[in-house]
Amino acid sequence: MAEETRELIIIGGGPAGYTAALYAARANLRPLVIEGIQWGGQLMITSDVENYPGYPDGILGPSMMQEFRAQAERFGAEFTTDDVTRVDFSERPLRVYVGDDEHRAEAVIVATGANARQLGLGTEVALQGRGVSYCAVCDAAFFRDKEVVVVGGGDSAMEEATFLAKFASKVTLVHRRDEFRASPIMVDRARANEKVEILTPYAVEDVRGGDVGRVTGVVLRNPATGEKLEVSADGVFVAIGHDPTTALFLDALDHDEAGYLVTKPGSTQTNIAGVFAAGDVQDHVYRQAVTAAASGCMAALDAEHFLTEQAHAAVPAVASETPA
Ligand code: NAP
Repeated sequence: MAEETRELIIIGGGPAGYTAALYAARANLRPLVIEGIQWGGQLMITSDVENYPGYPDGILGPSMMQEFRAQAERFGAEFTTDDVTRVDFSERPLRVYVGDDEHRAEAVIVATGANARQLGLGTEVALQGRGVSYCAVCDAAFFRDKEVVVVGGGDSAMEEATFLAKFASKVTLVHRRDEFRASPIMVDRARANEKVEILTPYAVEDVRGGDVGRVTGVVLRNPATGEKLEVSADGVFVAIGHDPTTALFLDALDHDEAGYLVTKPGSTQTNIAGVFAAGDVQDHVYRQAVTAAASGCMAALDAEHFLTEQAHAAVPAVASETPA
């Protein structure tokens, strides 16, 4: 079932998507936000957000996302709480599908975000926001003078361990192999920190604390010997990488090796005219709610500019311009 062609569709309901929706709605573009069944993005598994400007007392992640959404809705953004199943950017208008429903638009903003990789433990999920975190920059301050575990062997894990050591009384870095993926200088920096202890090779088998509703420690297992070890901790920082949510777009849009969408420097323009990318889906460096929101704003302004230009001139049939 197809509907009329809209000016703008926004795919994704996190800080980038909702900010794009707010700006686009206020520009009278009447955007449709296909926000995903699990709208809200990574902030839905965060508890207190203390680093978003404008909330001096902090705010719960899910509450903040509800406010973002409500603000966009106030100006006329429309929402579909469902997952996009397919896109077709090969012809104009651009097409976005939710199952059998076809949505058409002159411009599309992709803001589907990224997901922090999880260990895949039931106890990890149960204690998310209760001591299990995926962002040291966001949550380190909650662990002042407390003991934390960092999981991972890449640059993120080393960086987070070193950063957390500024707050925590002790940081135990746990990695499943004896070799690190991280660059030697980052490993050396973590090793040189007297608050950081590195344990390898250990896999996290369980997160303790489900009975009291907050993290109390982890159970580790040496994959080579089967030896088990229990480490007490108030927090567990899982730093085993991120995956951008880009499977739907890999055929159509330029992306890097890890699957992050590539945009033209200084803008949110992808290689397809009228398709823009905002937020963590195109940013593997900063990954903050405030930076995602900012790029959502950029995408809406870029889309508005594109639509205005298109209204004044004949647009080439789906130009494919590789970002410089
Ligand atoms: P990464 O390089 O992919 O490293 C992920 C680490 O997590 C690996 O050590 C991996 O172990 C481990 N891991 C993956 N899945 C796991 C699981 N299920 N259980 C336990 N451990 C698991 O990811 P990253 O550290 O986030 O870095 C991503 C990119 O950003 C890299 O290119 C990195 O250089 C860059 N980065 C740079 C900086 C910096 O320069 N300041 C800071 C952060 C990130 P294995 O090694 O055994 O696979």
